[in-house]
Amino acid sequence: MAGPPAASPGELLRRLRQRHPADPVTHVERVPPRAGVPAPWPSWAPEELRAAYARRGVATPWRHQVEAAGLAHDRRHVVVATGTASGKSLAYQLPALATLLADPRATVLYLAPTKALAADQLRAVAALEIEGVRPACYDGDTPRAEREWIRRHSRFVLTNPDMLHHGILPGHAQWSGFLRRLAYVVVDECHVYRGVFGSHVAHVLRRLRRQCARYGRTAGPTFVLASATSGDPAAAAGRLTGLPVAAITEDTSPRAGVTFALWEPPLLPPEPSTSGPTPAPRQKPSAGMAKGDRRVTSGQPEPRAEPSADPAQANRQPTSGQPEPFPGVPSPSGEPAAGSDLTQVRRSALRETADLLADTVAAGVRTLAFVRSRRGAEVVATSARRSLDEAVPGLGDRVAAYRGGYLREERRELERALLHGDLLGLASTNALELGVDLIGLDAVVICGYPGTRASLWQQAGRAGRSGQEALAVLVARDDPLDTYLVHHPEAVFGAPVEATVLDPANAYVLGPQLACAAAEAPLTPADLELFGDGAKEAVEALVEAGALRQRPTGWYWRHRERPAVDLRGEGGAPVCVVEAATGRLLGTVDGGSSHFLLHAGAVYLHQGVSYVVDSLDLDDGCALVRPEEPDWSTHARDVTSLSVVSVRSYVDAGPVGFFLGEVDVTSQVVSYQRRRIATGEVIDTRPLDLPARELRTVAVWFTLSPESLVAAGVDPVDVPGALHAAEHAAIGLLPLVATCDRWDIGGLSTAVHPDTEAPTVFVYDGHPGGAGFAERAYGMAASWLRATRDAIAECGCETGCPSCVQSPKCGNGNNPLSKPDAIRVLDVVLTNLPE
Ligand SMILES: [Zn+2]
Ligand SMILES: [Zn+2]
Repeated sequence: MAGPPAASPGELLRRLRQRHPADPVTHVERVPPRAGVPAPWPSWAPEELRAAYARRGVATPWRHQVEAAGLAHDRRHVVVATGTASGKSLAYQLPALATLLADPRATVLYLAPTKALAADQLRAVAALEIEGVRPACYDGDTPRAEREWIRRHSRFVLTNPDMLHHGILPGHAQWSGFLRRLAYVVVDECHVYRGVFGSHVAHVLRRLRRQCARYGRTAGPTFVLASATSGDPAAAAGRLTGLPVAAITEDTSPRAGVTFALWEPPLLPPEPSTSGPTPAPRQKPSAGMAKGDRRVTSGQPEPRAEPSADPAQANRQPTSGQPEPFPGVPSPSGEPAAGSDLTQVRRSALRETADLLADTVAAGVRTLAFVRSRRGAEVVATSARRSLDEAVPGLGDRVAAYRGGYLREERRELERALLHGDLLGLASTNALELGVDLIGLDAVVICGYPGTRASLWQQAGRAGRSGQEALAVLVARDDPLDTYLVHHPEAVFGAPVEATVLDPANAYVLGPQLACAAAEAPLTPADLELFGDGAKEAVEALVEAGALRQRPTGWYWRHRERPAVDLRGEGGAPVCVVEAATGRLLGTVDGGSSHFLLHAGAVYLHQGVSYVVDSLDLDDGCALVRPEEPDWSTHARDVTSLSVVSVRSYVDAGPVGFFLGEVDVTSQVVSYQRRRIATGEVIDTRPLDLPARELRTVAVWFTLSPESLVAAGVDPVDVPGALHAAEHAAIGLLPLVATCDRWDIGGLSTAVHPDTEAPTVFVYDGHPGGAGFAERAYGMAASWLRATRDAIAECGCETGCPSCVQSPKCGNGNNPLSKPDAIRVLDVVLTNLPE
């Protein structure tokens, strides 16, 4: 084991912040330690199982485990939503294994969002050595030869929703015995099933319930769900399963105390863009730290923002962007676009995180840095290694990056090296992907708000060995949501975590899922009830389209092949990224993002390696690339128009109208900018010839009367900039009320929209049919727009910056924008809108 940390978290934090002339810490929260609340084993838990847990070091369970297990044992559907490492697995293992022991024919199906997690859980169940259970993973990696044995003999099958959808349900006849005897369905990490993906999984679970009933399991299996801490988990689990679900939310496991600091990198002094980045001044390290100035030095190319071109990020790129909504309206000052010379920026969060990682490692503190992209994680690790080596040659070897995609042996080696202190610092993407059991670290540095309070707490929860206090630091990125949060600690520490949003009624999900269900077995009128709102209309549409045939006994799938439905893909078929020289397939990008990421000339990052796109063939669904590392990045720009299809709901609030409805968004990627990586300087803008694309989706929008804007002091010439700035910030703050991030959402604002005939701001789901985000925004309008207004008003910049009203994905070059007028616009909305 590593030795004790060099200093208490408070002392360590004091040293870290001392190194900056201006204190970057905006708030320190002390999260007190919590003593565990044990509970006796339930009387129904067999002695054999208790003994097995005792052998694994679990003498007594915690109360929340016993409560959740008790509900599940009583055949009530239950979700346990508690913190990291709170022992959620015991809550479902106990009733499931007790049932397998009591009924030698019963079976259990376990679903995890990733293969790695299912493999970890398999080891945990196997280690209990309960006779006759024969647990087994059944996924894409399972050899054909083993599959039949698993179907016949395993009573605890671990898989993922994709395999259930593509393999198990279409082949249900081979699984009939297993499904007939299915007692429990465990849905682990169920908070991952959100948005469009979550809506698909909701229907996969309904298809599973349908097949169980068809094979004679009329009462249906009991669902036990495990979730990270989330808002209203009972409602989310109910939407996911279509069943009434009870929730256990009180975490009674013990927790180490954590000192949690909110950290805002300093604003850099305004600089002409040609002189290169200016590192913020930092004092010499204090005596307690390693020698030498370990500042990440200037001149080193470093992305200003994390690149979004690795696959994990790319999946979230919607077919959206900012419009050209103001033809003929000159920018108020006639100045070039505000985004083109980045007048006022903060020191980058990546750079700050690298420094913090180097400093904590130098102090002998075991630290994990969470970075959102793989490329970002590598930049952080490389920078930290370099500065440590400058201080003490060889010290850099104690820092590593975790890129994902490692073999299990390599992950275990990392885990071992960290545990023993050979490795002191690790920069990584999120822990789910890690598949490594990394708990009990001394410090966690989180580079940029991870998008939800739920994942923030999950990441911070990696810090803290038993009985020892730990340090957690959230480093704000140049982004309105991050800025808002570091200045509103109550929104981090005082607010409940977000609700998981999904919308199973999305017609773009429901139709394809009903087609899958019909291909598995003809649909009956009773099935329509199972699939919920909109199912009847969706079936009629499938009949109309010739996919289903209606007969007296139900609706039949008409084709020989099964419908091709990808749970995770959307926005068209994925585009393959192929290395031109070798023909090697590097990966795929979903169709919706391909125009943005893979246009000719685009710089495309894949697992930290840079490529340039030679050509994009949309007919073949293939982009040819070559390895090259230019010193610029590329930024696609698009033009967007929007028309209102229907209004679902609205609020008439005098001069303000607030709406939820369906819209058609047409967007076309028309050009791209090349920008110097080091400075953000725009090199040039090049035209592109790509087709326009249509998106039918759900939007929330508000209108204001021109008179109310004049009365609020907004000059008519500034209306476009006011609305545009309000729209950017509103998109940035929406993740505060819904589990999405700004890449899931698009927007458009205009001084007069033909469908509303008024100044209007639209915010729409960037997914066909909507994903529930706009709907959530409509329901939470007042708190959403209040936070938006405060974020703009409280930003320290003068004319707008990436921390408030500028957007990294603006298709219009962040022009025009008016920060003060955006506040006036939002004030008009908020004073008129009922709470
Ligand atoms: Zn600002
Ligand atoms: Zn914009």
